[in-house]
Amino acid sequence: MERAIFFDKDGTLVENIPYNVDPRKVTFTQGANQALSILSGLNSEFQYHIVTNQAGVALGYFEESDLYPLRDHLSGMFEELGAKLTDFHYCPHHPEGKIQEYSILCHCRKPGVEMLKRASQKYQINLSQSWMIGDILDDVESGKRAGCRTILLDNGNETEWILNEWRMPDFKVRDLEEAARVIAGVL
Ligand SMILES: [Mg+2]
Ligand SMILES: [Zn+2]
Repeated sequence: MERAIFFDKDGTLVENIPYNVDPRKVTFTQGANQALSILSGLNSEFQYHIVTNQAGVALGYFEESDLYPLRDHLSGMFEELGAKLTDFHYCPHHPEGKIQEYSILCHCRKPGVEMLKRASQKYQINLSQSWMIGDILDDVESGKRAGCRTILLDNGNETEWILNEWRMPDFKVRDLEEAARVIAGVL
Protein backbone atom coordinates (compact mmCIF):
# COMPACT_ATOMS: atom_id res chain seq x y z
CA MET A 1 0.00 0.00 0.00
CA GLU A 2 1.09 3.53 -0.75
CA ARG A 3 1.15 6.53 1.51
CA ALA A 4 0.21 10.02 0.40
CA ILE A 5 0.30 13.62 1.40
CA PHE A 6 -2.79 15.44 0.23
CA PHE A 7 -2.29 19.17 -0.15
CA ASP A 8 -5.07 21.68 -0.37
CA LYS A 9 -4.07 24.12 -3.11
CA ASP A 10 -5.15 27.69 -2.37
CA GLY A 11 -3.67 29.22 0.73
CA THR A 12 -1.82 26.00 1.53
CA LEU A 13 0.44 24.98 -1.33
CA VAL A 14 0.17 28.18 -3.34
CA GLU A 15 -0.73 31.74 -2.48
CA ASN A 16 -4.46 32.27 -2.59
CA ILE A 17 -5.68 34.34 -5.52
CA PRO A 18 -9.44 33.72 -5.60
CA TYR A 19 -10.61 31.92 -8.76
CA ASN A 20 -7.23 32.26 -10.45
CA VAL A 21 -6.47 29.83 -13.28
CA ASP A 22 -3.56 31.76 -14.79
CA PRO A 23 -0.46 29.60 -14.26
CA ARG A 24 1.79 32.69 -14.41
CA LYS A 25 0.28 33.97 -11.18
CA VAL A 26 0.87 30.79 -9.22
CA THR A 27 3.53 30.92 -6.52
CA PHE A 28 4.33 28.50 -3.73
CA THR A 29 3.51 29.63 -0.21
CA GLN A 30 6.22 30.29 2.31
CA GLY A 31 7.91 27.08 3.38
CA ALA A 32 6.63 24.98 0.46
CA ASN A 33 10.07 24.55 -1.12
CA GLN A 34 11.63 23.56 2.18
CA ALA A 35 8.72 21.24 2.91
CA LEU A 36 9.19 19.30 -0.31
CA SER A 37 12.89 18.99 0.28
CA ILE A 38 12.35 17.74 3.85
CA LEU A 39 9.72 15.24 2.69
CA SER A 40 11.83 14.02 -0.22
CA GLY A 41 14.65 13.29 2.20
CA LEU A 42 12.57 10.90 4.32
CA ASN A 43 13.06 7.16 4.20
CA SER A 44 9.35 6.65 3.90
CA GLU A 45 8.07 7.56 0.48
CA PHE A 46 4.93 9.60 0.00
CA GLN A 47 2.89 10.27 -3.08
CA TYR A 48 1.93 13.92 -3.45
CA HIS A 49 -1.63 14.82 -4.39
CA ILE A 50 -3.46 18.10 -4.66
CA VAL A 51 -7.12 18.14 -3.64
CA THR A 52 -8.89 21.38 -4.41
CA ASN A 53 -12.40 22.82 -4.49
CA GLN A 54 -12.80 24.70 -7.77
CA ALA A 55 -16.27 26.16 -7.49
CA GLY A 56 -15.29 28.72 -10.12
CA VAL A 57 -16.36 26.13 -12.69
CA ALA A 58 -19.89 25.88 -11.28
CA LEU A 59 -20.04 29.63 -10.81
CA GLY A 60 -19.12 30.18 -14.46
CA TYR A 61 -15.84 32.02 -13.82
CA PHE A 62 -13.83 29.55 -15.85
CA GLU A 63 -14.14 26.19 -17.57
CA GLU A 64 -13.04 22.84 -16.33
CA SER A 65 -10.47 22.72 -19.15
CA ASP A 66 -8.87 25.92 -17.82
CA LEU A 67 -7.69 23.83 -14.89
CA TYR A 68 -5.53 21.55 -17.05
CA PRO A 69 -2.75 24.07 -17.82
CA LEU A 70 -2.81 24.97 -14.14
CA ARG A 71 -2.39 21.32 -13.18
CA ASP A 72 0.49 20.92 -15.64
CA HIS A 73 2.15 24.03 -14.30
CA LEU A 74 1.90 22.81 -10.71
CA SER A 75 3.31 19.49 -11.79
CA GLY A 76 6.25 21.37 -13.31
CA MET A 77 6.75 23.35 -10.10
CA PHE A 78 7.06 20.05 -8.21
CA GLU A 79 9.46 18.71 -10.81
CA GLU A 80 11.72 21.74 -10.47
CA LEU A 81 12.14 20.79 -6.83
CA GLY A 82 12.84 17.18 -7.70
CA ALA A 83 9.41 16.02 -6.55
CA LYS A 84 6.63 14.27 -8.42
CA LEU A 85 3.03 15.37 -8.24
CA THR A 86 1.07 12.14 -8.56
CA ASP A 87 -2.30 13.70 -9.28
CA PHE A 88 -4.42 16.83 -9.13
CA HIS A 89 -7.98 16.24 -7.92
CA TYR A 90 -10.57 18.95 -8.14
CA CYS A 91 -14.25 19.43 -7.40
CA PRO A 92 -15.88 21.67 -10.00
CA HIS A 93 -19.24 21.75 -8.23
CA HIS A 94 -21.14 24.20 -6.08
CA PRO A 95 -24.71 23.79 -4.83
CA GLU A 96 -25.49 27.40 -5.73
CA GLY A 97 -23.63 27.56 -9.03
CA LYS A 98 -24.75 29.15 -12.29
CA ILE A 99 -23.78 26.38 -14.71
CA GLN A 100 -26.48 23.79 -14.35
CA GLU A 101 -24.49 20.58 -14.78
CA TYR A 102 -22.11 21.60 -12.00
CA SER A 103 -24.65 23.07 -9.63
CA ILE A 104 -25.21 20.06 -7.46
CA LEU A 105 -24.71 18.96 -3.91
CA CYS A 106 -21.82 16.60 -4.52
CA HIS A 107 -19.68 14.44 -2.28
CA CYS A 108 -16.36 15.61 -3.64
CA ARG A 109 -16.47 19.23 -2.51
CA LYS A 110 -14.48 19.43 0.74
CA PRO A 111 -15.39 18.82 3.54
CA GLY A 112 -16.67 15.81 1.58
CA VAL A 113 -14.34 12.83 1.27
CA GLU A 114 -14.90 11.70 -2.30
CA MET A 115 -11.67 13.13 -3.75
CA LEU A 116 -9.58 11.35 -1.12
CA LYS A 117 -11.52 8.09 -1.44
CA ARG A 118 -11.19 8.04 -5.22
CA ALA A 119 -7.48 8.80 -4.99
CA SER A 120 -6.99 5.99 -2.51
CA GLN A 121 -8.70 3.50 -4.81
CA LYS A 122 -6.90 4.64 -7.92
CA TYR A 123 -3.44 4.73 -6.36
CA GLN A 124 -3.72 2.02 -3.65
CA ILE A 125 -3.26 4.55 -0.85
CA ASN A 126 -3.60 3.57 2.78
CA LEU A 127 -5.43 6.64 4.06
CA SER A 128 -4.69 5.93 7.71
CA GLN A 129 -0.99 6.20 6.88
CA SER A 130 -1.50 9.40 4.93
CA TRP A 131 -1.80 13.10 5.66
CA MET A 132 -4.14 15.91 4.66
CA ILE A 133 -2.78 19.44 4.95
CA GLY A 134 -4.99 22.50 4.55
CA ASP A 135 -5.55 26.06 5.64
CA ILE A 136 -9.21 25.77 6.67
CA LEU A 137 -11.24 23.37 8.76
CA ASP A 138 -13.11 21.99 5.73
CA ASP A 139 -9.78 20.50 4.66
CA VAL A 140 -9.30 19.03 8.12
CA GLU A 141 -12.79 17.56 8.13
CA SER A 142 -12.33 16.00 4.71
CA GLY A 143 -9.04 14.45 5.78
CA LYS A 144 -10.32 13.23 9.09
CA ARG A 145 -13.51 11.71 7.69
CA ALA A 146 -11.38 9.88 5.14
CA GLY A 147 -9.25 8.51 7.95
CA CYS A 148 -6.09 10.55 7.33
CA ARG A 149 -3.97 12.40 9.85
CA THR A 150 -4.54 16.11 9.51
CA ILE A 151 -2.53 19.30 9.75
CA LEU A 152 -4.03 22.78 9.77
CA LEU A 153 -1.91 25.68 8.59
CA ASP A 154 -2.92 28.29 11.10
CA ASN A 155 -2.20 31.20 8.80
CA GLY A 156 -5.34 33.27 9.28
CA ASN A 157 -7.30 31.84 6.34
CA GLU A 158 -9.84 30.04 8.53
CA THR A 159 -12.18 32.70 9.84
CA GLU A 160 -15.29 30.87 11.06
CA TRP A 161 -13.84 28.22 13.35
CA ILE A 162 -16.94 26.05 13.38
CA LEU A 163 -15.63 23.17 15.43
CA ASN A 164 -16.79 19.62 15.99
CA GLU A 165 -15.05 16.29 16.41
CA TRP A 166 -14.23 16.08 12.68
CA ARG A 167 -12.76 19.55 12.57
CA MET A 168 -10.06 19.18 15.22
CA PRO A 169 -6.72 18.91 13.43
CA ASP A 170 -4.11 16.52 14.75
CA PHE A 171 -1.56 19.30 14.41
CA LYS A 172 -1.62 23.05 13.93
CA VAL A 173 1.41 24.71 12.35
CA ARG A 174 2.44 28.04 10.83
CA ASP A 175 3.49 26.95 7.38
CA LEU A 176 4.28 23.98 5.16
CA GLU A 177 7.86 23.71 6.35
CA GLU A 178 6.63 23.17 9.88
CA ALA A 179 4.04 20.70 8.58
CA ALA A 180 6.81 18.71 6.91
CA ARG A 181 8.77 18.68 10.17
CA VAL A 182 5.71 17.29 11.97
CA ILE A 183 5.38 14.53 9.38
CA ALA A 184 9.10 13.80 9.58
CA GLY A 185 8.82 13.55 13.36
CA VAL A 186 5.70 11.38 13.48
CA LEU A 187 5.90 9.44 10.24
MG1 LIG B 1 -7.33 26.59 0.99
ZN1 LIG C 1 -17.85 18.05 -6.31
